[in-house]
Amino acid sequence: MEDSATQKIQCRRCGTCCAKGGPALHRADREAVDSGKIPLKCLFTIRQSEPAYDNIRRAIAPAASDIIKIKGAAENDATCIFLDQERVGCGIYEARPVECRVLTCWDTRAIMAMYDQERLTRADLLARLPGLNDLVTEHQERCGYEQVAQWAERIKQGQDKEPAVEALLHAIRYDQSLRQVAIERTHLDPRLLEFLFGRALSITIRMYGIKLAKKGDQVTIVGML
Ligand code: SF4
Repeated sequence: MEDSATQKIQCRRCGTCCAKGGPALHRADREAVDSGKIPLKCLFTIRQSEPAYDNIRRAIAPAASDIIKIKGAAENDATCIFLDQERVGCGIYEARPVECRVLTCWDTRAIMAMYDQERLTRADLLARLPGLNDLVTEHQERCGYEQVAQWAERIKQGQDKEPAVEALLHAIRYDQSLRQVAIERTHLDPRLLEFLFGRALSITIRMYGIKLAKKGDQVTIVGML
């Protein structure tokens, strides 16, 4: 029978870590993505300056750079998409990301030390796809979270509110139409959208306390949450 010390120094592959959410990717994971072992359609991007939970500060803060993460199993299920929940195994075990390799649930010092270092960005992965890279750059310029935060703050404070509402709605509509156009005109796989452009601005705007109403393709701001 194992004593408690032995129990703590071996990973039991119970899947608990994987059920808490997929890992963020680092430069060491680039080969696995480039080779298709981790497909782009299984990733999503938390864009630079987007509010995100910071595991080190244990608080929500604007992301210092893009954070490329493995998607959850379903819309309201953060469990890593690669976790085989029946057999409790990793579907990409040999190619699993570096965060999964260093994480030991009984001692998180190693993962904390590398947590925000050498993160993989969309630019790293799209360097060989200039057409998509240009689209991503344009989207970032028009829908960047630094501007979004400023517009949201002005709306909240009621300062210079009307132009801020207009600018924010313009960005939300552009974000929506870019995604639609990318699918309709370039036949882009819709599963790539959250990697290329992050989560839809019409959804993430709730993090700034802004409440939207949608009627068909029309979006309006109806108040603060
Ligand atoms: S990639 Fe594999 S080891 Fe890493 S969180 Fe997902 S299922 Fe778990």
